[in-house]
Amino acid sequence: MDLKQYVTTVENWPKEGISFKDITTIMDNGSAYKYATDQIVSYAKEVGAEIIVGPEARGFIIGCPVAYALEIGFAPVRKPGKLPREVVSADYGLEYGKDTLTMHKDALKPGQKVLICDDLLATGGTVEATVRLIEELGGEVVGCAFLIELTELNGRAKLGDLSVKTLIQY
Ligand code: IMP
Repeated sequence: MDLKQYVTTVENWPKEGISFKDITTIMDNGSAYKYATDQIVSYAKEVGAEIIVGPEARGFIIGCPVAYALEIGFAPVRKPGKLPREVVSADYGLEYGKDTLTMHKDALKPGQKVLICDDLLATGGTVEATVRLIEELGGEVVGCAFLIELTELNGRAKLGDLSVKTLIQY
């Protein structure tokens, strides 16, 4: 299946000069959403994932059906103030300023093999901060899966030798 045909590009959103990739037109098509999920499920099996970690909010949309299909757990990565118990935090740089991501301190078991799932790899800042959180919790990142990769932004460079799978490239 050519998944790219289901992505909608929205020019100048959320601001002038941004070419936004909207994945809701994959999700609202049952066979495209299932196909994308199945591709990531195969990759998750290949890398031996024992738990899925996904950043809010689109990482939940991609990661949760993969966890369900494999009958493994899902641990959320959230903005500060959203998780109710003790958390670990990681900062990452934005174009202007910084942002912070958090995970529950007991979200992972030591040595647990983690697959990170998100909708889109751009500069890699989000996934790199997610890797730091996982490593602080004693997890082992065995792979990173994205629906879309914006190759010009070279997000992969932030991930060193980690295995990365993307289904659609621009
Ligand atoms: P990065 O941290 O620069 O790699 O940006 C990736 C994060 O920003 C992901 O969590 C995406 O959900 C979000 N993102 C950036 N650009 C887009 C886009 O064009 N469409 C959807 N999400 C985007």
